[in-house]
Amino acid sequence: MDLLEYQGKQYFARYDIPVSAGDVATTVDEAVRAADAAGYPVVVKAQVHVGGRGKAGGIKLAADAAEVRTHAAAILGMSIKGHVVRRVWVERASDIAEEYYASFTLDRAAKQHLLMLSARGGVDIEEVAATDPGAIARVHVDPLRGLDAAAARAAAGAARIPERARDGVADVLVALYECFTKGDCDLAEINPLILTTAGSVHALDAKVSLDANAAFRHPEWDEWRATEELDARERLAREKGLQYIGLSGSVGIIANGAGLAMSTLDVVQQVGGAAANFLDIGGGANAELMTAALEVINSDTDVRSIFVNIFGGITRGDEVAKGIVEAVRRVSLRAPIVIRLDGTNAEEGRAILAAAGIPADRLVSRPTMLEAAREAVALAARGL
Ligand code: GDP
Ligand code: MN
Repeated sequence: MDLLEYQGKQYFARYDIPVSAGDVATTVDEAVRAADAAGYPVVVKAQVHVGGRGKAGGIKLAADAAEVRTHAAAILGMSIKGHVVRRVWVERASDIAEEYYASFTLDRAAKQHLLMLSARGGVDIEEVAATDPGAIARVHVDPLRGLDAAAARAAAGAARIPERARDGVADVLVALYECFTKGDCDLAEINPLILTTAGSVHALDAKVSLDANAAFRHPEWDEWRATEELDARERLAREKGLQYIGLSGSVGIIANGAGLAMSTLDVVQQVGGAAANFLDIGGGANAELMTAALEVINSDTDVRSIFVNIFGGITRGDEVAKGIVEAVRRVSLRAPIVIRLDGTNAEEGRAILAAAGIPADRLVSRPTMLEAAREAVALAARGL
C-alpha cells in the first residue's frame, strides 16, 4: 500500500523523524485554516500517489492567506500524470540550505536491507542516479544487526554529507531504519532530506510503501485505506480476500501459488498474449474460492478467455475440479475457461470436469501449461 506524502509524514512522526507542522485540506477554505494554524510562510502541496509534483506545478510557496487561496484553488483538481488532486497538504515552509536523499529498501539478491544516501538530493535525483551514480552511497544493512548511530554516521561520510550535517543525518537514518523495519515498510524514502539554514535536518517529503502482508499487526494503517487507489476489480478481490492485481490484458488468470501465477503470466506473454490480472488462489482451491475468483475475473470486461492453471500438491485436482464445476454453475461467465490440471489427483479431476457436461465452447482442458496458454491466447484473440 502506497501512502500519500502527508500519511508518510504522519508515519515518520511516530518514529521521531522530524517533519514540518501542517494539516491536510480538501477545500480552499480548509487550506487557509491549515495555513493559519501552521504559521506563514507555508507550502501548499498536492497529495497524489506519484512523484515529480514540484516540476508539475503541484507545490507552491505562499506568504499569506491570499496566496494560499490562489495556489490551493489552482492545485485542487489539477491532474498530475493522470492523478487528479483531491487534497493538499499545507505545512510551515522551511528555509533550505541543502537537499539530500535517503531511502531504505530490501535488496533481495543480497538478502540485506539497502540504504541509499546522497548529498545531491532534490527533484533531480533520477538524473544524478543516471549521470553520476557515484554520488549515491549504497550501504547494506544486516537485518539481524540493524543500523546503529556509528554505522549511520559512517554512511553519511560515504555519501559526502557535509560535516556540519552528519550527526543530524545520522539521527534521521537511525529513526528511518526503525520506521522501515518495525513499521513494516517495503520502501521508506525522504527526498529531499534537508539541512535548514538554522542547521537542523528534517524530512521535507515522504514516500512510504507499506508491506500489505503485515497489515494484521498495524491497526493504525486502517485510516489510510480510504485514499488507496484500487480499481473496481481490485476492490472486489479485496472484499473476497483474494491475492489479486489488475493488469491490462485480455486473458484472465487463476493459478494456485504466487510462483505458478507469475509463471503463468510469463507463458501467456511468451505465446503472444497479455494477462488481464495476477490471481493466486493459494492452497485451498475449493468451490467458494473458485467462485469468488471467477466472479472477480468476470467483472473485468476486458477478459476474453480465462486460463485456470492448477498444479496439485496439497491442493487436490479432484477438489479443484469440483470447485470449478460448482463455480461455473453459480457464475454466469462471459468468457470461456481453458484449464490445465496437473499434479495430485489430476486424472480424477479431469474425469470430474468431463462428466460435468459443460459445453466445449465454455470449458476446455489442455494437458500442459504451454498448450493451455496457447489455447487461452487464441480464444482471447478471437473475441467473445
Ligand atoms: P516532489 O516534487 O513530488 O518530489 O515534491 P517535494 O515534496 O520533494 O518538493 C519538491 C521541491 O519543492 C523540493 O525539492 C524543494 O526544493 C521544494 N520545496 C518543498 N517544500 C519546501 C519548503 O518548505 N520550502 C522551500 N523553500 N522549498 C520547498
Ligand atoms: Mn520529493
